[in-house]
Amino acid sequence: MRTRDPLDIPGPLGSRGRHRRRSWLRRAFAPLRLMLADLLSRLLDLAAASALLLLLSPLLALRAALSLFQARRLFDAEPLVGRLRAPFERLRFAGRGPLRGLAVWLNVLRGDMAVVGPRALVETEAARVPVGDLVRFAVRPGLISPFSLRKQVGIAHAGESALDREFVYAQSLRGDVGLAARSMITGVLGGGEQPKEMPPVLNFFGVPVVNTSMAQAVDWLIDASAPGAAPSQLAFVNPDCLNIAWSNEPYRQALVRAQRVLPDGIGIHIGCRMLGQALRENVNGTDMFPLLCEAAAGAGRSIYLLGARPGIAAAAAESMRRRYPSLRIAGTRDGYFDADTQAAVIKAVNDSGADILLVAFGAPRQDLWIAEHRDALAPRVCFGVGGLFDFYSGRIARAPVWMREIGLEWLYRLLQEPGRMWRRYVVGNPLFLFRVWRQVMRPERFALAAATGAAQAGASDGPCLPAAPGTRGCGS
Ligand code: UDP
Repeated sequence: MRTRDPLDIPGPLGSRGRHRRRSWLRRAFAPLRLMLADLLSRLLDLAAASALLLLLSPLLALRAALSLFQARRLFDAEPLVGRLRAPFERLRFAGRGPLRGLAVWLNVLRGDMAVVGPRALVETEAARVPVGDLVRFAVRPGLISPFSLRKQVGIAHAGESALDREFVYAQSLRGDVGLAARSMITGVLGGGEQPKEMPPVLNFFGVPVVNTSMAQAVDWLIDASAPGAAPSQLAFVNPDCLNIAWSNEPYRQALVRAQRVLPDGIGIHIGCRMLGQALRENVNGTDMFPLLCEAAAGAGRSIYLLGARPGIAAAAAESMRRRYPSLRIAGTRDGYFDADTQAAVIKAVNDSGADILLVAFGAPRQDLWIAEHRDALAPRVCFGVGGLFDFYSGRIARAPVWMREIGLEWLYRLLQEPGRMWRRYVVGNPLFLFRVWRQVMRPERFALAAATGAAQAGASDGPCLPAAPGTRGCGS
């Protein structure tokens, strides 16, 4: 399945400057501005490379001596494809040991590479770039690419070519400096190399979280909502949800029995690293929503939006309908109803003929509600989406892209609603990390039960995490 570039959607997913309307004067001078921006960015690269090489010259001399001693030559050269498809050789100090990568700054000095730009490709990769993506060769390949930055925090859902296209069309000096700064921040916070192990199912306090990609998760949803498919429940978990599941046994059970629990947020990413494992992607509901709407429109699946304040689900539905005119929205309804109205709400959902039900009551209420009424609900897939409709209706602004790229979306939410969010983030985030640390210390206490919903739904295509039958989760 091919999903559309979500960066094209204005609003919650953000976009850089290119969506702004430009006056005719600005448009007339655009080529000149582009040339100037290119020149400035080259000058900045030159300044950065010269300053760094000068500053590190004693180290470089030592490294060069070591290379000569070990390999009888200074550099190893990797043939790559650069700007305008011109070949160049990326340098690395020859031999073994540290600082070999520093030689790449000579490439920057020489103009083969920029500090920021699309990833440099090898010839075979470059030959496969489709015509629509050739624009990536209009700029120098970079040491830091927008794709690598987003990949570090698991939000490169748009795919490399879409991110490269956006970079080329919207490149600005300010954007480049910002990207370099964010990359340094994620580099420091990310703590270096990714752990090697990437299990198909992650285990947080006995809750099985499927380690999948956004595209695979959307595919799964489309398959699971096909006519004749068995009813299923999906849930997203962030550190706050897992903290709740720690002490709320019914919620923990609902998650354990769900067919898919997906990892939402930077906290899970950090938790994974503490467990010595790599998170494939941050598969959160907010990024997934437009992708799901597009896939659902393509596959003819209808969706029902239940939850949030009156009018909010309808407004979110309207924004998606505008974006994907063939999307079938079976119905919407707010999430403020009493117990007496419950049967009528379920009947309305069922009568609508929806294939997929999104429930936005907040966690854990939404997931418990789905678990309790799963048998009575006709949509084949039901899942909780928290504050999603608030974002897509425009009621609450989502964090800007640059904050998401350094994993600070939670800080934005905290600043928006400090009174409600401080407990979740200020207390909750460290508490979650402390609990993960406890799991690292005593993994046997937190083993997954053998028969979880995820296991039943065939989430793992490799060996599952060690399961000790009879072991009890932390919440029990
Ligand atoms: N909500 C609802 N019914 C309720 C309580 C809450 O529909 O009885 C909605 C609320 O309007 C909001 C969402 O549930 O749209 C919860 O948002 P929150 O950001 O707290 O959810 P989270 O993403 O943190 O789980």
